[in-house]
Amino acid sequence: MPILSINPSTGKTLRHFDALPPEQLEAKLALAASAWKAYQEVPLEHRALCMRKLASLIEDETEELARLMTLEMGKPIRAARAEAQKCATACRFYAENAAKFLTSEAVPTEASSSYVRFDPLGVILAVMPWNFPLWQVFRFLAPALMAGNVGLLKHASNVPQCALTIEALTRRAGFPRGVFQALLIESSDVAKVIDDPRVAAITLTGSNPAGSAVAAQAGKLIKKTVLELGGSDPFIVMPSADLNVAIDTAIKARTINNGQSCIAAKRFIVHESIYNEFQERFSVGMDNLKVGDPLLDETDVGPLATSKGLEEVQAQVQACIDAGALLITGGERMMVDQGNYFEPTVIAGLSRTAPVYREEIFGPVALLFRVHSLDEAIEVANDTPFGLGASAWTHDPVEQQRFVADLQAGSVFINAMVASDPRLPFGGVKQSGFGRELSAVGMHEFMNRKTVVVA
Ligand code: NDP
Repeated sequence: MPILSINPSTGKTLRHFDALPPEQLEAKLALAASAWKAYQEVPLEHRALCMRKLASLIEDETEELARLMTLEMGKPIRAARAEAQKCATACRFYAENAAKFLTSEAVPTEASSSYVRFDPLGVILAVMPWNFPLWQVFRFLAPALMAGNVGLLKHASNVPQCALTIEALTRRAGFPRGVFQALLIESSDVAKVIDDPRVAAITLTGSNPAGSAVAAQAGKLIKKTVLELGGSDPFIVMPSADLNVAIDTAIKARTINNGQSCIAAKRFIVHESIYNEFQERFSVGMDNLKVGDPLLDETDVGPLATSKGLEEVQAQVQACIDAGALLITGGERMMVDQGNYFEPTVIAGLSRTAPVYREEIFGPVALLFRVHSLDEAIEVANDTPFGLGASAWTHDPVEQQRFVADLQAGSVFINAMVASDPRLPFGGVKQSGFGRELSAVGMHEFMNRKTVVVA
């Protein structure tokens, strides 16, 4: 099957690529393995030089990179520019900090010397999604390459041009041939790559079925995996919150990337004393968003990335209504240029026993819940199979501490929306996955933390 790059705002095919035939896949695996042997010997300063050059290339070519992302998966161009910039920031962060993160850690014992050193694992396969087609890759690439690992990228099938562009950027930045390669393969061929003895470990960002399939396969072979999967993040608003800021942030947090972000706020849990005002103003704000051509600077919300995704969101909204929830605004597909547009949508009072309540809705659809107490807010927030991020809005220090301690999530943000930051670990608990990306913790995930004892 050809791998198609389709513009989601028009439905037109931009380019198509043939999937790699078996002999070319084999050649790339062989190249990755031989590249790793040589790359381990490349001094850290030289890796940092290449990483800084990579950052400069991204900064210089932000406009072209942003346009490519927007054309392939529909994110608004302003967000695409910011995404490219964030990739450059991550490259600089790891170029700057790798020496510190890779310094051996002395642990005093009875021995004359005992310490932990950090060795790279080898060839790491990254299975990546389309929603942040550059950022998801760079948050793997920057720490992995600074650590001395080499990367193989199986990017989502709908963003092949982004995949090839990232590979080309790494070569132009001076990384040796084979240190980072894109594999244009279908997901059905991923198992073969995982099976290959030259592949040491796997990281995947994407849906739960994909994560489960990859981790099961890797588990059978005792290969390390890091999984960053779905989320249904709560956004909790308590009476002491600054409502103006909370509402503005709530709109942004639900519609970021056209609603297709794992850490987008998806369930809005609001205290009854402010609920009516929140619902009214939040719905008006969602209604006022400018939906349309993502290449235009003024667009807030573009099309969903694929027609399959659009159908899924439409079916999930219908399932909410069928379960007795109230449609406050939106709820319909929008007919613009054959694109995958969906109205920003607000739904209230969905029963927590409805099967759709337990799903991730990957589109601009907000679910509102009214709660009567702090305990109930925490109980509803935790009532999900996921545990990626959580955002809680309150100026009450006691409430803040309860949220920090009791929310079951990989991160808790108080009076701010959840966002990734190269300096901080990123990942989830429960069905949102395991392991961490970013910071020193993310870098060490794909390293042998070797204990050394010299008697
Ligand atoms: P997928 O999880 O299917 O795709 C993510 C990556 O995994 C792609 O590279 C894909 O390749 C690959 N993949 C898919 N299935 C397998 C498999 N069995 N074995 C190995 N690799 C696999 O995401 P979709 O694009 O289909 O989106 C579906 C839903 O997943 C969304 O609606 C959303 O709920 C969730 N999702 C969550 C993301 C997040 O950031 N948490 C990101 C993307 C999706 P290919 O494209 O070739 O199928």
